[in-house]
Amino acid sequence: MRQLNAIAVVGASLAGLRAVQALRREGFDGTITLIGAERHLPYNRPPLSKSMLKGDDEVTLPGAEELGDQWLKGRHAIRLNASERRLTLDDGSEVHYDGLVIATGASPRRLPEHPEGVHTLRTVEDSRALRAELAAGPSSVVVIGGGFIGGEVASTARSLGLPVILVDASPYPMKNVLGTEAARWLARHHEDNGVELVSETRVTGFEGTGRVTGVRLSNGRTLPADLVIAGMGVVPNTEWLEGSGLMVSDGVVCDNRLFAMGTADVVAAGDVARWPHSLYGGALIRVEHWSNANDQGGIAALNLLAGPENAKPFADLPSFATHVHGARIQTAGLPHLADTSRVVAGSPEEDRFAVAFAKDGVLVGAVAVNAPKELIRVKRAIVAGDRLDALA
Ligand SMILES: Cc1cc2nc3c(=O)[nH]c(=O)nc-3n(C[C@H](O)[C@H](O)[C@H](O)COP(=O)(O)OP(=O)(O)OC[C@H]3O[C@@H](n4cnc5c(N)ncnc54)[C@H](O)[C@@H]3O)c2cc1C
Repeated sequence: MRQLNAIAVVGASLAGLRAVQALRREGFDGTITLIGAERHLPYNRPPLSKSMLKGDDEVTLPGAEELGDQWLKGRHAIRLNASERRLTLDDGSEVHYDGLVIATGASPRRLPEHPEGVHTLRTVEDSRALRAELAAGPSSVVVIGGGFIGGEVASTARSLGLPVILVDASPYPMKNVLGTEAARWLARHHEDNGVELVSETRVTGFEGTGRVTGVRLSNGRTLPADLVIAGMGVVPNTEWLEGSGLMVSDGVVCDNRLFAMGTADVVAAGDVARWPHSLYGGALIRVEHWSNANDQGGIAALNLLAGPENAKPFADLPSFATHVHGARIQTAGLPHLADTSRVVAGSPEEDRFAVAFAKDGVLVGAVAVNAPKELIRVKRAIVAGDRLDALA
């Protein structure tokens, strides 16, 4: 382990918390300055689009209580000077470090105008505000984007008995993530559960002065809406790194050990990090899932302590799970890289199946619907570098 005396962690959520815990567990006894824009202890985001919308406020992230008061809450880092190892915060103060962990996550993509009644969902405050609107019993709910957040919110709104229209740009929601077979099943599953799907259509703007009354579509139609949830993906929080000297392109570009490219004293982790994954021929990937941030935060911090020569590559398989209208959908690896796929267990008709994905014959991803054991089986085969035709 090399000698570092002061480590700064920017971003006090899942990846940032895991970084701090790993540093302390490893015996680092220097100064840790954790800087977080939110005022809460780090919390779990997955419940925000699920149980919290139904009234359950439990979002505790185990380990967060260990932080006590040892962090700067409600403070944004607004500038980084990487060559001088200096951060500037939004109150004008400066933090000097000899090691830095960047864990600033991502923020929801927004349309240029967002009138009242149009919501995005990333924070506890967002979830509470949306919950209040859902409880008021809107007469027309429009969800923009059928990704995992849009799908979960549509599912929650339906369980509350609300009418829901889901607008998505692709032929089937999540087609780019799940592949055609599972995405086609998901479209049917939404419709079977009372969601009206408007596919291959984009939202171009909103109607209503003050509060939203409608959603304008690229096909010329206008949907009536008194509540809109925009689930159009996220963008990494890197604006504060402009002029820092770090390489930023759809996230902080890192090497395979999570060091910001060309540096020996800055690492990145979680939704903000983009790094070359050895299972995918060194292609740069950025992963926006809980388990990635959970695992990467600790590994990035330990690599920072160890120094580049002794650091370990990060090559965990991305994985993700979501629940939509009672069905459990899981993914592993990167199905979107595939050129072939095959249903390897069950069938979409019985609402229980798994699909394996391969590129040049080699497994790269898996999707499972209500089939968790099958996901584990294919996941092992991906990690082993197996071929699709060897999979029973
Ligand atoms: C509603 C919702 C549901 C989800 N459900 C699932 C799910 O079911 N399964 C799953 O795998 N994943 C899910 N996710 C994704 C998962 O929560 C994220 O992948 C995870 O939170 C990423 O953690 P992170 O620490 O990298 O970033 P974040 O959680 O985004 O945290 C980044 C933190 O940094 C702070 N910050 C940003 N800029 C600055 C700055 N300049 N200075 C100081 N602080 C800053 C932010 O305010 C934030 O607190 C969900 C996400 C959301 C929003």
